[in-house]
Amino acid sequence: MTKTIVVTGGTGFLGSNLCERLISEGNTVICVDNNYTGRLENINSLLNHPNFRFIEHDIINYLKIDNNIDQIYNLACPASPPAYQGKAAIMTTKTSVFGAINMLELAKEKNATILQASTSEVYGEPLIHPQDEEYRGNVNPIGIRACYDEGKRCAESLFFDYYREEGVDIKVIRIFNTYGPKMDPKDGRVVSNFICQALSNEDITIYGDGLQTRSFCYVDDLIEVIIRMMNSPTGFTGPVNTGNPGEFTILELAQKILLKVGGTSKLVYKPLPGDDPTQRRPNISLAKNKLNWEPKIQLDEGLDKTINYFSNELKNIK
Ligand code: NAD
Ligand code: UDP
Repeated sequence: MTKTIVVTGGTGFLGSNLCERLISEGNTVICVDNNYTGRLENINSLLNHPNFRFIEHDIINYLKIDNNIDQIYNLACPASPPAYQGKAAIMTTKTSVFGAINMLELAKEKNATILQASTSEVYGEPLIHPQDEEYRGNVNPIGIRACYDEGKRCAESLFFDYYREEGVDIKVIRIFNTYGPKMDPKDGRVVSNFICQALSNEDITIYGDGLQTRSFCYVDDLIEVIIRMMNSPTGFTGPVNTGNPGEFTILELAQKILLKVGGTSKLVYKPLPGDDPTQRRPNISLAKNKLNWEPKIQLDEGLDKTINYFSNELKNIK
């Protein structure tokens, strides 16, 4: 049965991929975004679709919607460290906390199921490896990543309080690094930086010694698990780790991308930003058992698709 679905953060990387998939399945989609890091071009193909509506809105503020709503995906929040640090730190906490309250109130009013895009950042600098959902994390509450990490942690706590106190039907996923088409070339995260640098024959910027690890999930796999989680039985709240457990050092990633793209880029070393986690790998047993999901697209294939996308994007910019 098709549904009416709100996607906050819908002009961003994950949100726009999600909107496309939901529309392709016949749903009505209301996309909400203030375009802080999102781009209208990400939803160009949807703007004239009869089942698609875009509302320019900052979720820090109350949102009134007249339609009946079945589901809300709450994805609005800057996600790239350079986008949430510095001048946007307070806005990021407000988006995570006030935004969560506003969307949870909307879910309560409409009797809708609401999914929160949480993050592996709730684990901070993890002291156990790989990370499972029982682990409570090791976050610096006063560091430069805290606006994001603590904002997302507070949002999770709000989701569970609305579940317990108000009976709202909630779903929480913790997303590990995800990449792919519709990322902004200027986003600042590692996969987009390295590919754009390699395609432009610019230096590849390794922060720190490059031995820190991340696990990279291709966007199509992530969208699949988000939708499975949203449509899982009522009462299955999560949190559920979502990501690809393949783990790579940042140096390995740079070398892979250089090899694929070719060109004349050199590796250069830059200072490691504060509180940058040393290692990250999700334990995805819960997603496997409860959602019958595991990623299908491994890093090499995903990078090829993403290099192809950025190659076209950069041509359009020039
Ligand atoms: P993104 O920056 O491309 O998208 C975020 C979107 O939220 C943007 O369109 C931005 O304009 C919008 N937004 C930000 N603040 C807003 C506000 N106050 N009101 C309305 N819109 C606002 O990032 P993304 O990678 O697509 O991330 C989407 C969500 O997934 C975020 O909540 C992020 O924390 C979460 N997440 C992503 C990853 C990942 O690797 N991509 C990992 C963990 C969690
Ligand atoms: N990184 C890097 N060079 C870049 C961008 C990022 O070496 O140009 C590193 C960053 O310091 C971190 C890892 O790559 O250790 C992943 O960074 P990203 O911003 O993608 O996401 P994070 O997992 O840190 O939120």
